[in-house]
Amino acid sequence: MYLYDQPIYILSENTRRTSGRDAQRWNILAGRAVSSAVRTTLGPKGMDKMLVDASGNVVVTNDGATILTEMDVEHPAAQMMVEVAETQEAETGDGTTTAVVLAGELLSRAEDLLENDVHPTVVANGYRFAAAEARSILEGMATPADEGRVLEAARTAMTGKGPEAAKEHLADLVFRAVEAVRDADGEVDLENVAIETVVGASVDDASLVEGVVLSKERMRETMPRRVGDARVALVDAPVEVRGTEVDAHVDLSTTEQLEAFLAHEESELRAMAAAVTDAGANVLVTRKKVDDLVAGFLAKAGVFVVQRAKDGEMRALARATGAKRVSSVSDLTPEDLGAAGLVEERDVGDDTFVFVEECAEPASVTILLRGGTEHVVGEVERAVEDALGVVRVAMRDDLVLPGGGAPEVELARGLREFASGVAGREQLAVEAFADAVEVIPRTLAENAGLDPIDSVVALRAAHERGETAAGLDAYTGEVSDMYDLEVVEPLAVKLQAVEGATECVELLLRIDDVVAARASGGSAPEAF
Ligand code: ADP
Ligand code: MG
Repeated sequence: MYLYDQPIYILSENTRRTSGRDAQRWNILAGRAVSSAVRTTLGPKGMDKMLVDASGNVVVTNDGATILTEMDVEHPAAQMMVEVAETQEAETGDGTTTAVVLAGELLSRAEDLLENDVHPTVVANGYRFAAAEARSILEGMATPADEGRVLEAARTAMTGKGPEAAKEHLADLVFRAVEAVRDADGEVDLENVAIETVVGASVDDASLVEGVVLSKERMRETMPRRVGDARVALVDAPVEVRGTEVDAHVDLSTTEQLEAFLAHEESELRAMAAAVTDAGANVLVTRKKVDDLVAGFLAKAGVFVVQRAKDGEMRALARATGAKRVSSVSDLTPEDLGAAGLVEERDVGDDTFVFVEECAEPASVTILLRGGTEHVVGEVERAVEDALGVVRVAMRDDLVLPGGGAPEVELARGLREFASGVAGREQLAVEAFADAVEVIPRTLAENAGLDPIDSVVALRAAHERGETAAGLDAYTGEVSDMYDLEVVEPLAVKLQAVEGATECVELLLRIDDVVAARASGGSAPEAF
């Protein structure tokens, strides 16, 4: 009955295997390394990081998600932490640092429990109970968000991120942008809000364009600079005579043949231009190249042509104007055209843009950001992206929380109370969870140069007195009512941070065997 008398190798020689406590220890270490990499950026007084990639590009940022995507994280457990940030970013647009720092602290507290022989499954279960309770505590303390509160949330999201002085103005733009693209059910697709950046001028000069802005120029000076009542054609293919650059071998031995060939080519190109005008278009935007002769014919016919638009720009145009993208000019029909009240080329700073405004479907807006240097504009853009996410979820749920660590202190208090009712060793895990969430106010205090212990003690006292909105003023170090300070965050951001962090930690705790091909991680995590 013995089929084999040799041991069977199921793993190649090149794999490395870590199991049991070792695997857990390494995973926890790797996860914590990621969290400590972003920890110092939390809050308005958080520091920035300068990231340099292999080709020397520099990004200076305070944005957790950006830091983690730019860092080349290799260890599989560390990658799971990066995914926490990515999910947070995708779901809510803000709170990435919070989620990752929280996950790191949950891991660290779990490690203590494991050292004391609490089984990982027990820890994972306890954390899950705690997260469920956390949801109801947070929901219980949330307050309705009117327009003022939503604007405050937008400003809070941008605090400490660069556009400090222009926060008010930018929050207003973000609010108007989200409102403009909100559909009948109140749903907001942020795909409909484009951001264009222009280096030059000040951050205050940012503006909102109701429509689409292409960072392009019209093909010829002789084309009209401004087209009212635009009928827009969108073509995805090149507008040129095909085949010549492909191995089409043409035998032209006589002048007549050459002339005939050129005449034929020209008539084909003329036909392409005619297809555009015959359909009734006075604006043509193409994804690919437009032949110079065609551009010349179209210029003569008064058509405004933009070539080589980006796919995203084509999509935005299709949505905004109602145009149908066709794959060849000769297929154009009047029904394929979209409409816009105005298409105009304008200079903004040193750059030239094509503005497509007064669209049939105004569900497409563009925020035009300005700033002195590329780094400034880049950081303003990331801040505005966070604010867009925040306004979207705050408007969707109409619920906000006070910021400045207030929800975390309230959570810790509520969870400690809840823990006493939890049977078995899971109780220890719930208590550990309660301690872990206080990492947020502690870190806010640390990053603001305050004593974290004093700050947390003062916060706890305020919450014991029933001041649920008491948080840490990162500028004065005082414990204050965060609603009075207008430091507010959407409920959804906090819920997602707690749930995303818990899920990741739970997954990591359940792993007790890492089988990794060599060269990838699986053992000692890289130090940051
Ligand atoms: P995240 O990536 O998690 O959003 P941030 O660096 O944006 O990280 O910091 C968010 C934290 O900073 C939140 O807890 C928020 O309440 C807090 N915060 C924002 N503004 C203030 C302020 N003026 N005082 C204290 N805390 C603040
Ligand atoms: Mg933030």
